[in-house]
Amino acid sequence: MTAPGSQPARQGARSLDPHLRRYARRTAGMTASEIRALFAVASRPEVVSLAGGMPHLAALPLESLSAEVGQLIASDGLVALQYGSAQGVPELREQICEIMALEGISAHPDDVVVTVGSQMALDMVTRIFCDPGDVVLAEGPSYVGALGSFAAYQANVVHVTMDDAGLVPEALREAIVTAVERGQRPKFLYTIPNFHNPAGVTLAAERRAEILDICAEHEVLVIEDNPYGLLGFDGQTYPALRSMDADNVVYLGSFSKTFASGLRVGWALAPHAVREKLVLAAESATLCPPTFNQLVVSRYLSTHDWKGQIKTYREAYRERRDAMLGALEQHMPPGCTWTRPTGGFYVWLTAPEGVDTKAMLPRAITQRVAYASGTGFYADRLGSRQMRLSYCYPTPERIREGVRRLANVLEDELEL
Ligand code: PMP
Repeated sequence: MTAPGSQPARQGARSLDPHLRRYARRTAGMTASEIRALFAVASRPEVVSLAGGMPHLAALPLESLSAEVGQLIASDGLVALQYGSAQGVPELREQICEIMALEGISAHPDDVVVTVGSQMALDMVTRIFCDPGDVVLAEGPSYVGALGSFAAYQANVVHVTMDDAGLVPEALREAIVTAVERGQRPKFLYTIPNFHNPAGVTLAAERRAEILDICAEHEVLVIEDNPYGLLGFDGQTYPALRSMDADNVVYLGSFSKTFASGLRVGWALAPHAVREKLVLAAESATLCPPTFNQLVVSRYLSTHDWKGQIKTYREAYRERRDAMLGALEQHMPPGCTWTRPTGGFYVWLTAPEGVDTKAMLPRAITQRVAYASGTGFYADRLGSRQMRLSYCYPTPERIREGVRRLANVLEDELEL
């Protein structure tokens, strides 16, 4: 049998797709993420999925939201169902500024662009800054959706080392200097400072200014992606990088983790000139973000105790994080190490030498547990011993059972 991806299989695909010669070169970088490919099998009910990053929406007050949505149509339907501004609904942009103030950001609503989730902001940022072959810096590992956007615009990702305190400043400086010596000043640093996806670590407070200084000194823009910042389990919020440097940081935020991911409402806060380019890019992509969804978010923020809701989410995720860490401690074979997140959704596990988490996955699924294998979180296919374990969606009992099953699979793999 021919292995997928080997020559005969590709030729087969070529003859099956009559449009193959028409596609733009950039489509070569558009591949299905390993996580998406897993989705169907991992969502079978008998499988405990520690693979996806789906928020725990059962914690939402669905009845009162339903009434709110009904009222929105009854009272403002003709506005809510109409086209709107490419930049987003003004009242929501004001509310977004109030939310960002919780992380020390002082911003004007004119500099906020509402997007279809922060994923769209990532796509637009890459579109306006990256030509094919440009270098972008990102933590290694990094968010799979961002890597997808960078690949789609044919940017080359250079990964920068992280440790338990987040991005390592010296490694950042070295990566920039090396790229510049090769004649390729990086277009930007893409970073997830808080409760990292997938690494589960947070950038230490004392490193934040240093990282900003290094980027400013070498004229590298910073893209700060912060969907989890308000989900710290002890309620602590870290000062956003944008709060320390308004000129060289584009900040990306989202309602996906603090409210509802299906509404697809996120935003970018950018320096003036960049904001103008983002609005032009947004206009050509979608004309305007969905007015209805923006008004649902806006009404929710003004009529519901959204801070209380975030607290509810935080408590649920903390309980699940505790369940996962406790089970890992109890069941994992010797030689496995993992991060200990203080917020967010993810644990990053490193298996002992000799384990290939991607090759092991079919066996894990047979044992009714799924995870996201590490290679999907690197542009250069590192991460073969790593895996991301999400604790956001399954109940604590299911998490414990999933970790127990996973430990058995690893023990088999290691022949313990
Ligand atoms: N950035 C990071 C780090 C994420 O984890 C996610 C979602 N998993 C996103 C951006 C995209 O989020 P959304 O488009 O739902 O706002």
